[in-house]
Amino acid sequence: MNVKIALILAAVLLPCTFAIRIARVSKSAMLSDDWDYDEQGEDWSSGSCATGVQQSPINIISSNARCSNSDLLQVTLNTSFASEIINNGHSYECEGEASKILWTSSGSSIPFEAAQYHFHAPSEHTIDGRRYDLEVHIVHSVSSDYQYVDTLTRSLAVIGILFEVDERAPAHPFLLAFESHTPGEEFEVNLQQLLPIGDRPQFYSYPGSLTTPPCNETVNWFLLANVQKMPPTQLDYFAFTWSENSTFAGGNGNNREVQPLNGRTTIRGNCF
Ligand SMILES: [Zn+2]
Repeated sequence: MNVKIALILAAVLLPCTFAIRIARVSKSAMLSDDWDYDEQGEDWSSGSCATGVQQSPINIISSNARCSNSDLLQVTLNTSFASEIINNGHSYECEGEASKILWTSSGSSIPFEAAQYHFHAPSEHTIDGRRYDLEVHIVHSVSSDYQYVDTLTRSLAVIGILFEVDERAPAHPFLLAFESHTPGEEFEVNLQQLLPIGDRPQFYSYPGSLTTPPCNETVNWFLLANVQKMPPTQLDYFAFTWSENSTFAGGNGNNREVQPLNGRTTIRGNCF
């Protein structure tokens, strides 16, 4: 990005960011400034971050992911989702019911509803040791009308969607919606554009945690196997603030380092 564009963007973004953070400071402890990405999470001590044994993100080893026809995920993404993008100091985030999913495993189905989605640049999860340029997380909670069963301990479901830069790739339609908007401005996106391969995408699933403090081990993770492409210019929107911003976490980006598997198995679902 050239210096002139960077200065213009900084002038637009900084006042927005400041106002938003003041307004939201009491909304959630996760939005406070008592943690950062300077050491990519290695120094986090709150909650389960340092002591947990089922932490996220992880490196997915694709050859170890058992193919399962009984682990199914049906995803219904909001085709006209209006929200503003919020810079919470750790990520760009959009709040609201972005999607619904129905997870079926071992014969029982659990519905989840999204509360927000946000971005990490570069990716948090890696596949076979490869880190990608961008990862979208759609964070869901168990639907309010779902009757809990005693054995259900994980109340969250997060879908992770990976992007990689490709010089020859056409503009990604979902990311296009962001380019002409700054944080604080409401705009509409079609999240269905994140599922170019239909509503039953293959995914890697494993039991894990929030990737930010307090790192609660309450998350069913669903990382989509299909990696999407975007041209380098579309990464700039996110890289400017996170992965290529030398004043943010020393240029490390807003990703936690991968965590040990500790014997967990990864399943490859929707494996028809
Ligand atoms: Zn995340």
